[in-house]
Amino acid sequence: MKKNGEYVIRFSELKEDTETFEFDLGKTFFQDNSSNNWESGNVGANVDITKRPDGISLDLQLSGELTVICDRCLDAFPYRIDTVQRLYVKHGHETMELDDDVVVVSRDENQIDLEGYFYEYLVLALPVKRTHPEDSNGESTCNSQMLNKLEEHIIAEDTEKTDPRWDDLKKLMDKN
Ligand SMILES: [Zn+2]
Repeated sequence: MKKNGEYVIRFSELKEDTETFEFDLGKTFFQDNSSNNWESGNVGANVDITKRPDGISLDLQLSGELTVICDRCLDAFPYRIDTVQRLYVKHGHETMELDDDVVVVSRDENQIDLEGYFYEYLVLALPVKRTHPEDSNGESTCNSQMLNKLEEHIIAEDTEKTDPRWDDLKKLMDKN
C-alpha cells in the first residue's frame, strides 16, 4: 500500500529562508516506483530549499546505488548514482508544469510531492547503455558464466531457425 505524503514538502511548514530535507529512497520507494530501468535501489535524497519572492527553489542531490541489469551479460549489478538537479516552484493560480525544471503550484495546494521528481531524476541519471564496469586491468567484470550461457543460447537459436526470407524465396522458386 502506498503511504501518502512521505515525500511532500508543505510550504506553510517552511520556517527558515533556507532549509534542508533528507529522504531515504529505499525498499518502499522502489516497491512503489518499479521500473524496467532498475531492480531495486538505495538512494539518499538531500533537498536544499531556498525561499524566493515568487516561490521556492529546490536543489536536489541524489546519491546512492541502483541495482540495474547489465545489457551484456543480463546479470544484476550496482550502479552508483550521484546527481544534482534544480527545481523552481512558483506560486500561481493553478498547478501546472511550466518547464522541465519549473513548476507552478496553486496557493490552494501549497505543497509539492517530490516522489515523481525523484523517479524522473533517477531515470535521467542512468546511462542508456548499462554494462558491468571494467576492473583496474581494463577487463570486463561481466558474469562470464552468464555470457557463456547466452552465447550457447544464441548459437542454438541460429541453427534451429532458418531465415524466413529464405523460405519465401524458396516458395517463389518452387512455383517457377
Ligand atoms: Zn555484465
